[in-house]
Amino acid sequence: MVDRVDRERLASLALELVEVPSPTGDTAEVARLYGRRLAESGLEVELLDEAFSATPIVVGRLRGGKPGPTVVLNGHLDTVPIPHEPPRLEGDVLVGRGAADMKGALASAAEAARVLAASDRSFPGEVVIVAIGLHEAPTGRGEDLSYLLGETGFTADLAIVCELGGHAFPVAHMGQATVELTISRPGMATHELQTPPGTPHPLFAAGRVIEALAALRAELAATEHEWVGAETIFLGEVHGGDFYNRHPTSCRIVGTRRWAPGRPFDDIEAELRALLAPLAEETGCEIELDCRLVRDAYRIDPEHELALALRHAYRDVTGDELPLVGLKVVADGAIFHQAGIPTVYHGPVGSGAHADVESITVSELERAAKVYLRTLEWLWT
Ligand SMILES: [Zn+2]
Repeated sequence: MVDRVDRERLASLALELVEVPSPTGDTAEVARLYGRRLAESGLEVELLDEAFSATPIVVGRLRGGKPGPTVVLNGHLDTVPIPHEPPRLEGDVLVGRGAADMKGALASAAEAARVLAASDRSFPGEVVIVAIGLHEAPTGRGEDLSYLLGETGFTADLAIVCELGGHAFPVAHMGQATVELTISRPGMATHELQTPPGTPHPLFAAGRVIEALAALRAELAATEHEWVGAETIFLGEVHGGDFYNRHPTSCRIVGTRRWAPGRPFDDIEAELRALLAPLAEETGCEIELDCRLVRDAYRIDPEHELALALRHAYRDVTGDELPLVGLKVVADGAIFHQAGIPTVYHGPVGSGAHADVESITVSELERAAKVYLRTLEWLWT
């Protein structure tokens, strides 16, 4: 089956997808185009736009000839909103925003589905392509995928998220939340000498908070978790005060918290609240915590049938073994994992995701399409 992958067709679909700008939250046009191409290949296509009209979810379904598992190939059509030079195909290289992250991969998934659709369709179960438009933070947190899996009755038995991995097999990744703290006192900003003694001071309170977070960071660093390493709390921004001798009213601290598989997000948030409550008491400032889940942590048994199918498929296509790795970065496998759907990550490897110039080779797209097909064949044997 893998020799039926059509490189030219794959390259032209990838270019076509990259040519339609689709920053996170604004993917309707590219979703319609992708849905149309899947339908032309013979898939039953639905565009779910009730909950997220600007980012319709593309669901393309291909039913096999007998009962069997529903296997999802998933990706995101949105890109980071960073300007990029015009898309083009230069020999084997596709250049453009979204080429590597990850319209190229969705073209590979579509090509794998096209090959299956053109076959005698005697395979068991069904293959479903799911493409979303709210992936990239900060605008996207996978809300559309969470909605699809949680609220529409959509079900699947197994999923392949068509990014990350590449030439390694991710066994686990960390969970991630954004952390935003607002430390404040009542009243307006006042001259330092005209502020009553004992008035809570948000910047000194912030100092205490930062110390406490630094202590948490050191404590977390002491434990290496299998595959993903140590958990972290990270600070990227501190803002507060507006003039050298004014007693400020607030301070804002922004960062991230990353944790290992096995702990739910609620736990992580509760731990931060417990750390902050005594500091609010001590400093007299109000400390408001806005902790938001980006993605949960993820893991899969590398001996799971889906994991083995992918590992065998990669070896069949490339002749090499996929080394097992853990990742710090989060992705949408976590959402399938939370929904109880065993999931693996595997995508074509490009370069420059989120960078000024983004590219991927057609050879990689072709390789990924073949690995998807071969993975399905292993699952079906
Ligand atoms: Zn991506």
